Amino acid sequence: MKTCFKNINLIDGTGKEVLKNSYIIVEDGMIKEIGTEYSNNFEQFQVVDLEGKYVMPGLIDCHMHISFPPVADMVSAVKLTHTIDHVVRAIKNLEALLKSGVTYIRGTGSIDYIDTKLKKHVINGTIKGPGMHCAGKLITMTGGHGYYLGKEADGIDGIRKAVRDELKEGVDLIKIVSTGGITTPGVDVNAYQLNVDELKAAVEEAHKAGKKICTHSHGTQGTKNSIIAGIDCIEHATILDDEAIEMAVKAGTYFVPTISAMYSIVKNGEEKGIPKYVVDKAKEVIEKQNIGLRKAYEAGVKIAMGTDSGTPFNIQGENSASELELMTRYGMNPMDVIVSATKTASELIGIDNEYGTLEIGKHADFLVLSENPLENIKTIQKLESVYQNGVLVD
Ligand SMILES: [Zn+2]
Repeated sequence: MKTCFKNINLIDGTGKEVLKNSYIIVEDGMIKEIGTEYSNNFEQFQVVDLEGKYVMPGLIDCHMHISFPPVADMVSAVKLTHTIDHVVRAIKNLEALLKSGVTYIRGTGSIDYIDTKLKKHVINGTIKGPGMHCAGKLITMTGGHGYYLGKEADGIDGIRKAVRDELKEGVDLIKIVSTGGITTPGVDVNAYQLNVDELKAAVEEAHKAGKKICTHSHGTQGTKNSIIAGIDCIEHATILDDEAIEMAVKAGTYFVPTISAMYSIVKNGEEKGIPKYVVDKAKEVIEKQNIGLRKAYEAGVKIAMGTDSGTPFNIQGENSASELELMTRYGMNPMDVIVSATKTASELIGIDNEYGTLEIGKHADFLVLSENPLENIKTIQKLESVYQNGVLVD
């Protein structure tokens, strides 16, 4: 079955300018042809006329916790919830994410390998959801950030064992922790946690198995340690100096800023029940990120879009499109923001042969928009429709 989508203004995700009055032919979920010379021969296919609409690739959210409760006191909620609650929430969230225009996610830490196990059901079609590339439990030092939901490990041998355990569970990605975090009580976002030799051991184990490794890092020293260790991607990367930025550019390290996480905490505050220590840390970090992200972007660090949905008031399926708006507020231009949520995100995950841009030979995962997102980035938050493998998501 072939479908021709015609009369579209195409933003293909590569950074190229809008291709006006174009068409896309999709067969078996894949893009077969793209052009501007519409032929009447195409009338033999199913034709979808998108007169005057804008089409761009589906969003790839590179930092996602599909099962976490995005409530004010998330730490207490995670401790109190049973695995079944996480599973039910995750299934609902996967569908909500897809409807909101997220056609691929990178899971950055879950409970009981829920993400890895649910991925099989999405592939089989038992449940609806975006494509998935997922870590299992995050690996943190004893008492380190996220210890209450991750796996505590210390020393080179301990870290090696923890990474090997994760790989044994069939994860796609290793997630480790380099600094304190906002939601964990009693840890400082500026303080580095695992040491360079421990991070290096984790990188070696992940890379040996052909897997990428990402790390949670706010403070500058933790980010530098991670880059020295050869970690592929820094999650948050909020507090930076010029040296850290230069190191990231040189090493080709990706940053996933997750502005939504800090923004949602500061916006809702203690009035909505978020613990004071969480609000205080988020305020400190968001101010510094406003400076650091601008500098990193201008210096040419590879930036991929991610929200950290699942943290307080950072609701899965509601914040991925608005993260793009936040990125423009932090100095990125709209085209670069779109590229970060599509092409760059697919390269970070390692799926750029099949996903991320609307080009021949790739999956027909795209969004239909009523306005030009390059002129109004908010239009992605009220999209007209989503197609996954060329099929309308309903
Ligand atoms: Zn996270």
